[in-house]
Amino acid sequence: MMIDRQARKLLFETVAQRVIASADELTDLDRAIGDGDHGANMRRGFEAVLAAVDELSAKILASPLRRWTTLV
Ligand SMILES: [Mg+2]
Repeated sequence: MMIDRQARKLLFETVAQRVIASADELTDLDRAIGDGDHGANMRRGFEAVLAAVDELSAKILASPLRRWTTLV
């Protein structure tokens, strides 16, 4: 199964929004074992994904993810 550009965009947006919404939880978890910056770093990265989502969704997904889509 191939996923089209619209589905890729929805995939990227959904994952990004979920990670951004979980940033505080990720920070709390990282604070317990590390330096507590994981949530902020993930938020910054996925905000960049959202900013580039049109460009990203125009590209074919990497083969591991394409493989995954054949399994679901
Ligand atoms: Mg850290």
